[in-house]
Amino acid sequence: MKHLHWFADLLNFIFPPRCHVCNASLASHEKFACSHCLSTLPRTGYHRRRLNPMEERFAGHFPFVKATAFLFYSKGSPLSQLIQDLKYRNFPDIGILLGELAGKELFSTGFFSGIDLIVPMPMHFLKEARRGYNQTHFIAEGISRATGLPVSYPLIATKGHKTQTSLSQEERLSNTKGIFSIKDSSQLDGKDILLVDDVCTTGATISSAGSVITGAAPTCRLHILTIGVTF
Ligand SMILES: [Zn+2]
Repeated sequence: MKHLHWFADLLNFIFPPRCHVCNASLASHEKFACSHCLSTLPRTGYHRRRLNPMEERFAGHFPFVKATAFLFYSKGSPLSQLIQDLKYRNFPDIGILLGELAGKELFSTGFFSGIDLIVPMPMHFLKEARRGYNQTHFIAEGISRATGLPVSYPLIATKGHKTQTSLSQEERLSNTKGIFSIKDSSQLDGKDILLVDDVCTTGATISSAGSVITGAAPTCRLHILTIGVTF
């Protein structure tokens, strides 16, 4: 769509892009959020801790090597602003931005060493059709750009599940039971897999997906990375 560049330039001139968090106008190298807002998003540092609070959530639910969340997530926070825009306001490329940020910062810590492929959390096809995209595909793409790791889609969501927010802990666990299946376990056998999701709240969705992956491919080793985690 090269011929549309002049039109995008004109729009940028009339409506200069602004930071989705602080509304400052963005420099030409910035997209969606300014460097200051990105650098002050609260890092968890969980990847440096054994049995961090993410790993505590999953311990005993399914076998995994390690789990971490990149940032702390809370309602009304700058990160929640970006995640809301990513999920509900048709800004899928915010997923690439956040995925690249997480990928770059964790890469230098060795978090990705030994990983063979990235598997994004799937979304039921009806929900994806309504939204137009699955935001975790974009997060996975951002991580892939930062790390060079391939993205694979062997996990599918076979049923939709109710929005989790109105449910209790036990309801969430039963709500996510049986919603995932594996399309092709041969691409997972013997591999180190990085399961990626946007925000971990109770961990019920990840536990359900993790159980299905490790059940279908018992020889795989599972690692987990989410952009945000509630605390
Ligand atoms: Zn900003």
